[in-house]
Amino acid sequence: MLIFRQMFDPVSSTYTYLLADSASREAVMIDPVFEQVRRDGALVEELGLTLAFTLETHIHADHVTGASLLKRRLNSGIAISAASGAAGADRYLKPGDSVAFGPHRLGVRATPGHTAGCVTYVLDDGAMAFTGDCLLVRGCGRTDFQGGDAHTMWRSLHEQILTLRDECLLYPAHDYRGLTVTSVGEERAFNPRFGGTRAEGDFVGYMDNLGLPHPKQIDIAVPANLRCGRPDNYEAAMPDSLKDPDWAPLTLTFAGIWEIEPEGLAEVAASVRVLDVREPDEFTGPLGHIKGATLIPLGQLAARASEVPKDKPIVAVCRSGGRSAQATNILAKAGFDKVANLAGGMLRWRAEKHPVEGGT
Ligand code: FE
Repeated sequence: MLIFRQMFDPVSSTYTYLLADSASREAVMIDPVFEQVRRDGALVEELGLTLAFTLETHIHADHVTGASLLKRRLNSGIAISAASGAAGADRYLKPGDSVAFGPHRLGVRATPGHTAGCVTYVLDDGAMAFTGDCLLVRGCGRTDFQGGDAHTMWRSLHEQILTLRDECLLYPAHDYRGLTVTSVGEERAFNPRFGGTRAEGDFVGYMDNLGLPHPKQIDIAVPANLRCGRPDNYEAAMPDSLKDPDWAPLTLTFAGIWEIEPEGLAEVAASVRVLDVREPDEFTGPLGHIKGATLIPLGQLAARASEVPKDKPIVAVCRSGGRSAQATNILAKAGFDKVANLAGGMLRWRAEKHPVEGGT
């Protein structure tokens, strides 16, 4: 079966797509965004997938690709069209090539017009296609820079995309109004630029008069994307939000919670504060508690956060890891920046034979 996820970057309004095979767990990701690599990497890991390739639909001007960071984190290959002119990819795609993940394949179609190197990826059964900035929902990408050309775009749309079957679902690289997907039949009928009875001259006239401002990110994004998003220095290029915490071996869940495994907590126990957020009768009950733990029940934490010293990182603990996950959110809001949740709570801590105080 096909696993399919659509992710959104609200800053650049970019869609990133994850496609995977449920049996072999092999995956590909289309158009990852640099700032979202941690989120998207967490999804790949949480679902137990192996990311074979990241694929670009084109050299983006509005965001830096996450391809290089994902390669560093997950050892994925980087694939991009040969016509893009990018350096540093592992695979250069030509029209008619295909990228496999498990038994599935994404076929490559050249769809220049927005940029000279734009491609559309079509799933083998023709049920879905990823059109990049060639076709957007009731729109299309601009054609006024990066080798763009409205006549070329018209031909790409009519010869490569609208020739797919009517029911084929089309997933764009962007949307600015909250629309997520469309279909060939729909766009052929209703696209205000090239659909219905519109002719090439109408389309070119429309495109020549878009009057769009120069993209804000273009001077940073294009040079970076011509290197597949590889920074000169990873550490220096990393915004704080992408830096990995160094005080313990932590993983970020797709839900956005930093977690520490029982084994990891056992290793750093001396240098962190364990905050137990269960009720007092649970703290002294049969599961016992971790030695030295401070007890503040979750319901009181927001009001009593100032009682927690900030001299050490905090690991929040509860019965199963559920309430303590919320505790990490409350502590983050209260200004604590080194906070993690004990994965699986006291249940896993005990199951993995770590020492407890009290309990039975
Ligand atoms: Fe673009």
